[in-house]
Amino acid sequence: MNPLPDSMGVRGTDHAHMIFDRSPVPIENRLGEEGKGLEVALSVFLTPSRISVAMSCVGLARRAQVRHTFGKPLAARQAISFALAENATDIEASRQLVFHAARKFEAGDDKADMFASMAKLNAVDMLTRVTDRALQVHGGVGYWEPNEIERIYRDARAQRFEEGTNEVQKAVIARDLLNG
Ligand SMILES: Cc1cc2nc3c(=O)[nH]c(=O)nc-3n(C[C@H](O)[C@H](O)[C@H](O)COP(=O)(O)OP(=O)(O)OC[C@H]3O[C@@H](n4cnc5c(N)ncnc54)[C@H](O)[C@@H]3O)c2cc1C
Repeated sequence: MNPLPDSMGVRGTDHAHMIFDRSPVPIENRLGEEGKGLEVALSVFLTPSRISVAMSCVGLARRAQVRHTFGKPLAARQAISFALAENATDIEASRQLVFHAARKFEAGDDKADMFASMAKLNAVDMLTRVTDRALQVHGGVGYWEPNEIERIYRDARAQRFEEGTNEVQKAVIARDLLNG
């Protein structure tokens, strides 16, 4: 196993290059046909995993919303309350699309992969907007550790790579649309 250098965010979990060299795997443990490993991984794993990452974005965005200062909620100020209202609307719209994709997946819908990609694409863009507004609401102090928003903002950026970039999600959505 080769460890990777430190990452910008998501430091609670680690990543490494795993090398399997002459590692025997019992035939009964094989998933799918021989030589079709990538196909199995992509067809079985990615759709639920994209729905899961999309819901992680919703959770992270909700966490970014929480903020108090000087013992009184910042929301008491009108300009701040508008930012919170925009964030709440953004979060709820994404949340409902994730639930919609999850229901499609559970029902075995043949367009579930498209809805999973829509949910993921929408959720990461929502998370970018919400964490950006949330950092602004915190003021400059939010840019520094140990403010939680500093970590949330960095962690959020990783979601645009995990389980495929926005470009990959768009390619999946367009393929399903064009295939009827
Ligand atoms: C925190 C984190 C965790 C990760 N965890 C995992 C993991 O657990 N397992 C795993 O396998 N991978 C993991 N990855 C890797 C991640 O899946 C890839 O980084 C991501 O899919 C992009 O692939 P790439 O880095 O090879 O970029 P590239 O494929 O080199 O792409 C570079 C850029 O070009 C764009 N691009 C590429 N092809 C096209 C195209 N045809 N049309 C338009 N634009 C295109 C991409 O969207 C991207 O913006 C992780 C990455 C991060 C940051």
